[in-house]
Amino acid sequence: MSVSKLVFAPLSFTGWGSLEHLLPETAKHNPKKILVVTDPMLEKIGLTKRVTDPLEQEGYEITVNTDVVPEPPLETGEKLVDFTRKGGFDMVVGVGGGSALDLAKLAAVLATQEGKVADYLNLSGTKSISQKGLPMALIPTTSGTGSEVTNIAVLSLGTTKDVVTHDYLLADVAIVDPALTVSVPSKVTAATGIDALTHAVEAYISVNASPATDALALQAMRLISRSLREAVENGEDRQAREDMSHGSFLAGLAFFNAGVAGVHALAYPLGGQFHIAHGDSNAVLLPYVMSYIRKSTVSRMADILEAIGGNSAFLSDEEASYKCVEELQRIVKDVGIPSTLAGFDIPESALESLTADGVKQKRLLDRSPLKLGEEDIRRIYQSAFNGV
Ligand code: NAD
Repeated sequence: MSVSKLVFAPLSFTGWGSLEHLLPETAKHNPKKILVVTDPMLEKIGLTKRVTDPLEQEGYEITVNTDVVPEPPLETGEKLVDFTRKGGFDMVVGVGGGSALDLAKLAAVLATQEGKVADYLNLSGTKSISQKGLPMALIPTTSGTGSEVTNIAVLSLGTTKDVVTHDYLLADVAIVDPALTVSVPSKVTAATGIDALTHAVEAYISVNASPATDALALQAMRLISRSLREAVENGEDRQAREDMSHGSFLAGLAFFNAGVAGVHALAYPLGGQFHIAHGDSNAVLLPYVMSYIRKSTVSRMADILEAIGGNSAFLSDEEASYKCVEELQRIVKDVGIPSTLAGFDIPESALESLTADGVKQKRLLDRSPLKLGEEDIRRIYQSAFNGV
């Protein structure tokens, strides 16, 4: 039995109405000037105000920065960190999807370090984070990335992605209130929901999985598979939004501790080269990667089938593992996400450049139960082009 390091931080409040915990949690840090990092869409639809109004009424000086863009590039991170250092803030609140939360993490942690964001990147950086940053509260408005409970910030760099990662990127408090997700459009609900499902599935089959992460991942799969379709069809469905909110939170804790693997490794180049949203990239590849690695994790795939609501009665693990791939494919189809790379207008001529960038994601590939080399990656992309 190997030893697992488990970090079930940060302090979190979940469930409908949990936003009310922001004020007492903020008061603990006694800030004067608070930077709120959010995206322009959330500002426009009035969601950001639900966070800033109570803070302002309490007398805090609030600055709202709306420079966040989806799948943020490194330059956006550099600009925001500069802004934070110059602003003299003493707390950061991130409000939004994974893009806003990741940038809020960088703003908070790098405000107190020297150097550029680029210096701290996992693949190409040379510096490591050495001290805690500003106090940080993270408030997700999508049910997908789990960023509110992970120690990673993801940035787009040219045709691929890289991360800044350190336990100092963990929030001081995460507030996961499903009420803030009701306005998420159906397409974003679908993509972010499959992102969360992918986190749970990949954490469950990761070589670093442990009994603790298994429990989180399986419950995340149950909640997501029973409610994702409803949340996509009717965003006002309160039970569905609650399930998705808890599901993405649990999946975030599971993958933070066990890691994600092949699906994410191959999804990053789709985002980098073709600007496909992170959730869509994972969704289109999930069944193909799982089909390819099936043989290496048959009994775990049988467990996944059960957790996602597939009927495994009277099936051998081998049969259940095939059915698991079909069931994952069905969920992706049911929520209206294209099932092939052609469905995203990606030309087959991109096969080699995608493979070349996929191979670079060694940190992720190393967690796959089946070792994935260059030829394996090429074959998986090819099957995602062919649809078989
Ligand atoms: P996002 O943050 O880019 O948001 C997608 C869209 O949804 C945006 O247009 C946004 O304005 C809109 N939106 C968000 N909340 C809304 C709401 N309540 N109502 C209406 N519209 C809303 O998408 P995301 O999938 O949440 O985040 C993706 C980013 O997160 C990527 O950069 C990805 O790499 C990163 N990520 C980070 C982690 C991590 O652990 N740090 C994990 C997975 C992914």
